[in-house]
Amino acid sequence: MLNFTLGPVMSSDLVLKIGAEQTPYFRTPEFSKVNLENEQLIKELLCASDDSRAVFLTGSGTAGMEATVMNVFNEDDKVLIVNGGGFGQRFVDMCNLHNIDCDDIKLEFGHCLTPEMLNKYDGKDYTAFLVNICETSSGVYYDIDLISEFCKKNNLLLVVDAISSFLANDLNMVEHGADVVIIGSQKALACPPGIAIIALSEKALKRVENNTCKSMYFDLEDMLVNGIRGQTPFTPAITVILQLNARLKELKDAGGIEAELKRISDLAQDFRSKITEFPFEVKSNCLSNSVTTVHTKEKIEVNLVEILKNEYDIWVSTARDDLSETMLFRVGHMGDLTPKDNDTLIEALRDMQKRGLF
Ligand SMILES: *Cc1c(COP(=O)(O)O)cnc(C)c1O
Repeated sequence: MLNFTLGPVMSSDLVLKIGAEQTPYFRTPEFSKVNLENEQLIKELLCASDDSRAVFLTGSGTAGMEATVMNVFNEDDKVLIVNGGGFGQRFVDMCNLHNIDCDDIKLEFGHCLTPEMLNKYDGKDYTAFLVNICETSSGVYYDIDLISEFCKKNNLLLVVDAISSFLANDLNMVEHGADVVIIGSQKALACPPGIAIIALSEKALKRVENNTCKSMYFDLEDMLVNGIRGQTPFTPAITVILQLNARLKELKDAGGIEAELKRISDLAQDFRSKITEFPFEVKSNCLSNSVTTVHTKEKIEVNLVEILKNEYDIWVSTARDDLSETMLFRVGHMGDLTPKDNDTLIEALRDMQKRGLF
């Protein structure tokens, strides 16, 4: 199996090996040490300040998004959300569910965020800005520098869902002024799903402390207090935490954030240069390094994604643009993939073309 989907992605041999072992008991000094180490390593990768914290919440990435909305905001807030697809809409739905006043900046599917779009919201009464910095549904990456500047100017708390861009696109918590960063274990961290990581700046930590969270399981304050001693209030996804520990150390040993950013970006460039031989199009000029959204130029009768999976054992993700007649698919560049794997995918597409499928 060769997995180019947007998560879960291919894991390293070491991560796989840990997954095959017995799950250890977790109320031990040894496991506390792992948790403390993970918090430190993730803060390093995010270039977070010393007084920031990170919690490892058992749940998928959406749990991290919802815990953030429930713990960081209250009815006095008015938040602005970039809504360019499925994940932006998810933030909007969550804010509505939890009675957080919000407005959304609606983008057409696949379009970039421009300074003109933000200008309209300049100098208003917003308190925070929420963005899925890579809108995975379209593959679009929003300009973090533009957003960062806007938030600083308007004194907005900045929440970045970096679930599909962490390790693929540069994010520096201090420089970009990000107050909350949300990450998932199954995207570029290349572990199984099960852990959402929420990194919080000192400003965000104060908000969590002063808010009352109406949930026992999603109470970040409880997690933060337990985290000081390297523990969690409830049983965590222990094996995934051990796998994350191995993976975070692997990343550090391989050259840290810079090296992984370069590796993923090179892999994306490699794929984008190779895909040009087909009658496909890569339309957006603001794609994340983590994903390439590929459009067919004409309507295609067969389902390329299904054929790739069933006949070549290669997995890519479908995409949905309801306005488009042509087929879209997304090819991920996160996880344990190499340029040689790109070649295998290109070779399969060549074969499908030879068969007259497109
Ligand atoms: C994958 C993803 C999520 C989380 O999805 P889960 O299925 O809950 O893990 C959230 N935001 C973005 C941008 C994502 O790509």
